[in-house]
Amino acid sequence: ATGGGKKKEVKKETGLGLSYKKDENFGEWYSEVVVNGEMIEYYDISGCYIIRPWAMSIWETMQKEKDHIEGFAPEVAWVTKSGESDLEVPIAIRPTSETVMYPYYSKWIRGHRDLPLKLNQWCNVVRWEFSNPTPFIRSREFLWQEGHTAFATKSEADDEVLQILELYRRIYEEFLAVPVIKGKKSELEKFAGGLYTTTVEAFIPNTGRGIQGATSHCLGQNFSKMFEIIFENEKGEKAMAWQNSWAYTTRTIGVMVMVHGDDKGLVLPPRVASVQVIVVPVPYKDADTQGIFDACTATVETLCEAGICANMDSRDNYSPGWKYSHWEMKGVPLRIEIGPKDLAKNQVRAVRRDNGAKVDLPRSSLVERIKELLDEIQESLFVAAKQRRDACIQIVKTWDEFVEALGQRKMILAPWCDEEEVEKDVKARTKGEMGAAKTLCSPLEQPEIPEGTLCFASGKPAKRWSYWGRSY
Ligand code: AMP
Repeated sequence: ATGGGKKKEVKKETGLGLSYKKDENFGEWYSEVVVNGEMIEYYDISGCYIIRPWAMSIWETMQKEKDHIEGFAPEVAWVTKSGESDLEVPIAIRPTSETVMYPYYSKWIRGHRDLPLKLNQWCNVVRWEFSNPTPFIRSREFLWQEGHTAFATKSEADDEVLQILELYRRIYEEFLAVPVIKGKKSELEKFAGGLYTTTVEAFIPNTGRGIQGATSHCLGQNFSKMFEIIFENEKGEKAMAWQNSWAYTTRTIGVMVMVHGDDKGLVLPPRVASVQVIVVPVPYKDADTQGIFDACTATVETLCEAGICANMDSRDNYSPGWKYSHWEMKGVPLRIEIGPKDLAKNQVRAVRRDNGAKVDLPRSSLVERIKELLDEIQESLFVAAKQRRDACIQIVKTWDEFVEALGQRKMILAPWCDEEEVEKDVKARTKGEMGAAKTLCSPLEQPEIPEGTLCFASGKPAKRWSYWGRSY
């Protein structure tokens, strides 16, 4: 929401036509046209507007190149001053947009033909978090995508929750090469305002902590009750909408850094690296320096033409060795070195960031080989990360085993009675310097629970398998 206009009073209803003429009253015409054209909706705060999809799609084309309230209350940042003067009405900075959007959903949704309503926005939010801040992982302002959808039936909402969760899995696994587990949050850990929360959970082996990668919530009808999002169904009866909300944030970047980074610095998966290949000339005293630089330039051109993001580090005030370290620190997936020997043999030397492996590639088949190598790096980053993650997973059946595994910083899979009191009890019993253990999620893919299996913590009959551990 941007701009500096003032809120217009509601104009007389004139059906589809405009009540003002452009030549006669430009200002009124303009504000009417943007509202009736469904570009914006005026918002309660002067100078703030709701940008609607019709306008947002244009922007995007240009870019191509109550439980709830209580739960958030302590984290909401308030603006009380503008310069030196106090604001008449303090403004809350959104921590998430349910309460901003849903009063308008109530207005926009009238009949079953208005459903489903699916809106997504990319924006920034502010949460005045009190627990330990960590760049990307837990910041007080972060960038995110938030989807807010409304359906006529619960089953449509349920289906979408899982479709979105699958998209989030793919973002982590296929782009960031980070393995995640799809699961459902416990009653204690779910979004308090919703019906149920699903998550993709990542794990950081080095710290032995789980991390909520992204969440897809089914809000049920809780918000449609609160905000009166009521529609007339096909039978002409009043019904309440079923809603979902789902989001992922710049936390994804932090998880990727934590999972792949090594002692030399960042390790970026090729699919998200803005520089996939860095070309470094390696001139020697008596060598054909110009020839080497020309070969580097030509290599970058060839790769870029093939759609590979390649760059050359041609700076003459740094040695090749310094450049190697520099680009390793920045995590560029592949380095190409061209020295006198390579020039003579019409080849290049490629060095992988992930495992340091070196290969000489003939310049004649460069593009194919580099593409293969980038695919291999992407794949092996995921495989290696999954092996490290899987090595941390420990199945336990008893409390003693649980405590031991927790001491070893494991991601613990245990049969559980799924009772809130028991989770609270586990938290209390594991409280300590490192932080208490809690449920991470109950995996959607449940291993079988043999008849008579008991909860590791309460000894009651187990209802499901759940992951437990410390978390961010
Ligand atoms: P929520 O709306 O609380 O479900 O948050 C959506 C997602 O945002 C969570 O699944 C986290 O991955 C991420 N997230 C929550 N808090 C933060 C934060 N302070 N910084 C970065 N990401 C966050």
